[in-house]
Amino acid sequence: MERLILWDVDGTLLSTDGIAAEAMRAAIREVVGPAAPMARTSYAGKTDWQIIRESLPSLPPEEVGARLHDFAAAYLGRLEAQRAELLARSRLFPGVPAALEALRGLAYQAPLTGNIAAVARLKLECVGLLGLLDVAAGAYGDDHHHRPELVPVAADRAKARYGHDFQGRAIVVVGDTPHDIACGKANGARTVAVATGPYPLDELLAHGPDAALPTLADTEAVVAAVLG
Ligand SMILES: [Mg+2]
Repeated sequence: MERLILWDVDGTLLSTDGIAAEAMRAAIREVVGPAAPMARTSYAGKTDWQIIRESLPSLPPEEVGARLHDFAAAYLGRLEAQRAELLARSRLFPGVPAALEALRGLAYQAPLTGNIAAVARLKLECVGLLGLLDVAAGAYGDDHHHRPELVPVAADRAKARYGHDFQGRAIVVVGDTPHDIACGKANGARTVAVATGPYPLDELLAHGPDAALPTLADTEAVVAAVLG
C-alpha cells in the first residue's frame, strides 16, 4: 500500500452531462457580474480557481482569491438546488467502480481535481464513489489555482492520514486531459491518461503519459496501466 493513486473526476470517472458547467457559468456571472468574459473556452483540466482568474483578467490575483469564496458558495448553492437533476443526469464511465474496487487494497486512492472540494464531494456522492475514494486525502480546485501544485497538497494529506511519505513514482496521476499529464510529470509522478473526456487517445499520447487507455472498461488493463 505504498502507492497513492490520484484520480481526476470530470471526464475521467464521471460526467455530469453539462449540469456542473452550466452552474459554474451562472455562478461566475453572479460573482463577476454581467461583464464576465464568458467565451466558451474549455474548462477541461483547469482548476476552478484558475477558471475564475481567467474570468477576471483585470483583477489582481489576490482579489481573485478573495472572490473565490463567493464563487464557491454561489456554485455549490446552485448545484445543491439542482441536486435531483444532478443525480438523474450524472453517470459513471464504464468500468469505474470495478477499477477502483480492483485497486482497493493495492493502493490508496483519492481525488485530484480542479473542482472545489465541496463540489467534488457532491459529484462523487451523486455517483456513489465516496466509499471508494478518500476525499480527505485528495486535493481540489480551491487548494491552488495551478494544478501541479495539487499533487504535494494531496501527498501531505495522505501522509497525515496513512503515515506514509508518498513521493515521485509512488504517486500515480490519472486523468483525461494534457493538464493532468503535465500535472503528474511536474511532480515526477507516474501518469495515466484515459480518453473518456474531450481529448482523443492519440492527442493524449502525444503528451507522453506513462500509459494511456481508451476507457476504464478493461479492469485488468487499468490495474496494469496504473501500477506499471
Ligand atoms: Mg478531467
